[in-house]
Amino acid sequence: FKAVNDTLGHPVGDRLLGLVSQRLAKLMTENELIGRLGGDEFAVVMREVNATATAEDLARTIIDTLSQPYEIDQHTLYIGASVGMAVSPRDGRTAETLIRSADLALYRSKDRGGGVFHAYEPQLHSEAEERRVLEMSLRRALEKGQLHLVYQPVVNAHDGALRSFEALLRWNHPEIGPVSPAKFIPIAEEARLIGPIGDWVVRTACEEAARWPSDIRVAVNVSPTQLHNPQFTTVVASALANSRLAPSRLDLEVTESVFLREGTGATRILDQVLEMGVGLSLDDFGTGYSSLGYLGKTRFSSIKIDRSFTQAAAAGSAEAIAIIRAVVALATSLDMATVAEGVESEAELHMIQQLGCTRIQGFYFGRPLPVMEARALAARHDRAMRAA
Ligand code: C2E
Ligand code: MG
Ligand code: MG
Repeated sequence: FKAVNDTLGHPVGDRLLGLVSQRLAKLMTENELIGRLGGDEFAVVMREVNATATAEDLARTIIDTLSQPYEIDQHTLYIGASVGMAVSPRDGRTAETLIRSADLALYRSKDRGGGVFHAYEPQLHSEAEERRVLEMSLRRALEKGQLHLVYQPVVNAHDGALRSFEALLRWNHPEIGPVSPAKFIPIAEEARLIGPIGDWVVRTACEEAARWPSDIRVAVNVSPTQLHNPQFTTVVASALANSRLAPSRLDLEVTESVFLREGTGATRILDQVLEMGVGLSLDDFGTGYSSLGYLGKTRFSSIKIDRSFTQAAAAGSAEAIAIIRAVVALATSLDMATVAEGVESEAELHMIQQLGCTRIQGFYFGRPLPVMEARALAARHDRAMRAA
């Protein structure tokens, strides 16, 4: 819904909401009551439900009905719906707790990609609690110096020579211990903490890369939310200026989810960053929608093929092999490099070399390294190059 609002404007968004309300109202019988909670959120109260199947049937019907296309002003619009369910008195005795339980279940449905329904489970409550605690400590993590970067080598596929490092964020929580970025990055994105944290990552990675030999580049991951901030270009420009790192030595990695929310200005910001001479990589290719159309949205210098493909190809999956071949062919004709992620064994290395990927990143060549070890590796590479 937000994408419709952002691209076609609020009047169209309002009419879309009107159509959604009409469709929902038609589904209601005298046993149900429907209302709008605000924004694009609606609530249905069902009276005297004897079997969960009844509520599930309605949830399914709601999702199907709302997912049918809408015609507004010559536009054919598609939106999805997610549903969370809670049952009284089991999941809450007051309206307030019941809505909160339904909300947690809805959250789970959205988390799973949307278009589905989930019922409340007590476990959701403890997960939400864990998230809340992590979010609170993450707010102070940067100033308390609990965040640091590690650097994973990326090498040429043909000779194994070091080319660059990818900067990867680590959080060491004093009580919980290390928290995986797969866990805390989504929390940081939702709590709007990724802005300051992401800025710090760009600055720190540029400063570190400036100490490496001049043919070694650094790659930094950028969240979609960072690109919704028009100030992002300035952050990159000042990180480069302060560290005196040549722009051509910096690569920004984005996933295609950047393009899912059109109209947010992300493409424009990417263009400005490219204008500065910074490189751009499409990360985790193969995990999302993987529309090849995204490759035309901006000028990518490389495509990173997700680890799941590397591993599937080495395990003999015909589809994975065909897809990697196609991506490599396309990338070559568009003058882009292909990086295979997650190469862990010699067998995987050989498969990737055969498939023609130009670069490799994976535990086989190196794990994410602490700053000093990465620096030492870069220096060794430099000595080897001079000797050659
Ligand atoms: P990514 O950008 O795709 O980074 C590659 C991930 O694959 C890293 O996980 C890396 O440790 C892991 N990896 C590399 N080679 C292998 C291998 O051979 N085998 C296996 N099993 N894994 C391998 P990590 O460090 O846990 O990061 C996970 C994700 O968190 C990253 O995926 C990235 O999306 C995100 N992330 C990390 N640092 C940052 C950051 O500074 N900013 C943002 N926005 N996201 C970050
Ligand atoms: Mg990455
Ligand atoms: Mg990746």
